[in-house]
Amino acid sequence: MIAASPPIDQRARALGVLRMSLTARCNLACPYCCPDAVDPPGLLSLEQQLRLIRVASRLGAHTLRLTGGEPLLSDRLLPLLEQVALGRATPGNPLQGLRQVALTSNGVLLTQERARALRAAGLERITISLDAVEGEVVARMAGLRGGEPAGTRLIQQVLAGLEAARSAGFDPAVGALKLNAVIQRGVNDDQLIPLAMLARQQGLELRLIEFMDVGNRNGWAMEQVLPAAVMVDRISRQWPLSSLGRSPGGTALRWRYRDGVAAIGVIASITEPFCGDCNRLRITADGQAFTCLFAARGTDLKPALTSDDDLEREICALWQRRLDQYSEEGRGQAAFRTSPHAEMAYLGG
Ligand code: SAM
Ligand code: SF4
Repeated sequence: MIAASPPIDQRARALGVLRMSLTARCNLACPYCCPDAVDPPGLLSLEQQLRLIRVASRLGAHTLRLTGGEPLLSDRLLPLLEQVALGRATPGNPLQGLRQVALTSNGVLLTQERARALRAAGLERITISLDAVEGEVVARMAGLRGGEPAGTRLIQQVLAGLEAARSAGFDPAVGALKLNAVIQRGVNDDQLIPLAMLARQQGLELRLIEFMDVGNRNGWAMEQVLPAAVMVDRISRQWPLSSLGRSPGGTALRWRYRDGVAAIGVIASITEPFCGDCNRLRITADGQAFTCLFAARGTDLKPALTSDDDLEREICALWQRRLDQYSEEGRGQAAFRTSPHAEMAYLGG
């Protein structure tokens, strides 16, 4: 392994978070995301994934987030976690630099057995996505045919997934279990208060995400974005909130309920972009590196995945030439809107 100091990009940002997509496929079809039905050719092997995580850790990544598509569809998930845990427990292994291993999932396949196995394999945090508490709205947000009954079934599965995670030891009180919800104006914004109520009842931090213009298929329109400030205002009228700010490199502006019941976070990448300290490197399931969710194309890391040293050189070079801050400067320009972008489920969110 070559000795490199952690790379810094053209805007003085260091690498901190590695988001790795295990598959572009999903068992849901949320219209705001539009996942692929099949994976791209040339999925990374377990060994290649591990190499990537090891090298990223060495270059300063302290957090690994596994995502997709739906990561619970991947049979790689468990062996990968086991290998990462082994590395983290081995003195001198670069994986010891990882402080947190997390997963984002829709929760549908999170049985008790699965949750226990993930925990035993070293997973520390799970964020589960649910965009409504009413069956008809959930069905619409998840792209389910079958209307209200199908949506109600999905809610039951996700609630069971949350319960399975909690009983396996993912404790919401220490941030190990959270709830994500994408809010679209006129589509599910009537679910804001019911979602906040559900999260409060369960002691979960609710992360409210502005509808983002990722990819080319989701028909994004500014009119459908409910600004995070409006979300916070609506919730604070019901339950007063106090600001907790945004942690350095973090995505969420956080607020705590003044009555002490849990907290919320809003991810305002449209109305209050946070490119200035973005520390995220995204790797797709087929080994493309993206340093921004809104980039037109990635860098194929596969040719460099033959040795740790080659990969380290490639990632260092990629990070050092990184300039992107699309959220802050690209939006609203016709050229940005019409140029092709990678899809959300491919990128991993
Ligand atoms: N399938 C998993 C899930 O839904 O949690 C993991 C992958 S998903 C791409 C990761 C996160 O991205 C989810 O919380 C999802 O709601 C969010 N997401 C997807 N498309 C989005 C969009 N267009 N705008 C904002 N958030 C989006
Ligand atoms: Fe699947 Fe997640 Fe995309 Fe919904 S947001 S389609 S659950 S990958």
